[in-house]
Amino acid sequence: MRERFSESLQQKIEERLRYYEDLGIRLFYRDRGASLNSPGAGPPEVSNLSTFRAAQEIALPKPKIAAPKTAAVPPVERVEPVTLPSGPSLFEAVDKVRDDTLLKIREDIGDCTRCKLHKGRHKIVFGDGSAKAQLVFVGEGPGADEDAQGLPFVGRAGKLLTQMIEAMGLQRKDVYICNVVKCRPPENRAPEPDEVATCSPYLLRQIDVIRPKVIVCLGAVAAKTLLETNRGITQFRGQWLEWRGHKLMATYHPAYLLRNPNAKGEVWKDLQKVMAELGLQPPKKKSS
Ligand code: SF4
Repeated sequence: MRERFSESLQQKIEERLRYYEDLGIRLFYRDRGASLNSPGAGPPEVSNLSTFRAAQEIALPKPKIAAPKTAAVPPVERVEPVTLPSGPSLFEAVDKVRDDTLLKIREDIGDCTRCKLHKGRHKIVFGDGSAKAQLVFVGEGPGADEDAQGLPFVGRAGKLLTQMIEAMGLQRKDVYICNVVKCRPPENRAPEPDEVATCSPYLLRQIDVIRPKVIVCLGAVAAKTLLETNRGITQFRGQWLEWRGHKLMATYHPAYLLRNPNAKGEVWKDLQKVMAELGLQPPKKKSS
């Protein structure tokens, strides 16, 4: 069955068909092309009226404003979400512990297998020094010597750190020394994010128990872990930062100084700021 429409209805139909085309509905192309685009064609014919009526009944909102043509936008790169280990955040974990002590933290660590670093370790390197220290040094993780002895900073880099501490007029027993992770990463690689996330709550508990006046982060891993930043250490090395009520300074790791002795002067400048903050005087040279 074929039906003819008045001119005004034809215009309405045409408008509506254009609208459907804009929406991506191409169902009526053939009919419209055949009836409206032919030169001299009379009033339009719709060969499938039931289809047209069905289309008229589709309750689609009519756009009020035509979408503006915009310049091509470069495709957005898909960012993979970071998968963090389940469990409380570092700060939640720490805040839940009441009446904490270093002994309790060590007992909580136990014979830890919470991250994959346990597979290659010989000894857990918990930390060493005074539980009432005003100054805490935080390193990255144990090396081979530390793994063998169960003590932090006892290898070549540790000897350099001891010299630095003594140059500040202190002894190792006056400060507290610990690491972000308590077990040695294989091949002395940097600890991986999941290992840091698993182990660092113990570090935060240690610091909360000791409540030092000053924390010195030795190297980027310690600084980035405590400050929860991805900024390079050179951007804030030697600057005083506030961290959970403590004054924090990041400086280079002694192992870096062994490879780059020229950086020792920079570290010494940083430690002099720490000395000033703690009211320390360098030891007097023995007169000969
Ligand atoms: S590095 Fe820390 S979390 Fe991982 S096994 Fe050792 S003590 Fe446990």
